[in-house]
Amino acid sequence: MANPYKRVIVKISGEALSKNGVSIDQPTVERIAGDLVAAANAGVEIGVVVGGGNIFRGVEVSTRGVPRPVGDTMGMLATVMNCLVLEAAIERQGKEARTLSAIAMPAVCENFSRKRAVKNLDKGRVVLLAAGTGNPYFTTDTTAVLRAAELSAEAVLKATNVDGVYTADPKKDPKATRYARLSHQEALEKNLAVMDAAAFALARENRTPIIVFSIHEKGAIEAVVRGKGHATVVG
Ligand code: UDP
Repeated sequence: MANPYKRVIVKISGEALSKNGVSIDQPTVERIAGDLVAAANAGVEIGVVVGGGNIFRGVEVSTRGVPRPVGDTMGMLATVMNCLVLEAAIERQGKEARTLSAIAMPAVCENFSRKRAVKNLDKGRVVLLAAGTGNPYFTTDTTAVLRAAELSAEAVLKATNVDGVYTADPKKDPKATRYARLSHQEALEKNLAVMDAAAFALARENRTPIIVFSIHEKGAIEAVVRGKGHATVVG
C-alpha cells in the first residue's frame, strides 16, 4: 500500500532526547535517528523540528533575571545543538541529513530558506530545522506548524510521551480513552491541549493535520508515516 504522505514535519521535543537527568542521552538519540531513517527509507520526505527544553527554555531562564528575548535566544541555540547531534546520528546510520538554521551561523550549518529546505527534501535528505522560527516568544511547536505550511508538508507528526490524545489524563484516569481522530474544532471545544495556543491556531487556520504519537514506542515514526501505529489524528 502506498504511504499516505509524501512530506511531513516531525516535531520532537528536546526532552525526548534526555534520560535519567542527562540532557542528551546518546542511545536515545541513536534510537530516534534510526526511526527517522526508517521513515525516510519508506519514501517519505522528512523535515524535523527539534525543541530545546532539555537544555534551555526562555521562560525558565527569564525567571532567573535574564531578559526573556535573551533566554529565548538561548533556547533557540539549544535546539541547534539537538539538531546537530541528531544530524550526526542520522548520517552515521547511512542517510544524508542537513541542519538548516533560522539564525545565521555559517560556521556551523546553512541558513534556513524555504527553497534550500525544499531542495534538500527533494534529494531525499532528512532536513533538521534548527533555531525555531528565529524569533523570541515563539515555540518549536509553532515552528513545526509554520514549516509544514511553508514547505507544503501534509502533516505535523507530534511526538509526545503518550500515544495520542485522550479523553482525560490516562495517568490519572484509568477510564480515559484515546481518540482515533478528531477535528481541530473538536479539540478546541473539548479543551484538549494538543499544542500551545499559537501553534494550534496556525494549524487550524491552515488545516494542517497534527498526528500525536508516542516517541517511546520503537519504530513509531515509521509506523505513523505508513499510516499505521497508535496515534490520534487531529484535523
Ligand atoms: N524558542 C524561541 N523561538 C522559537 C522557538 C523556540 O524563542 O521560534 C525558544 C523558547 O525559549 C523555547 C526554547 O526555544 O522555550 C525551546 O523550545 P521549546 O520550548 O519549544 O522546546 P521543547 O519544549 O519542544 O523541547
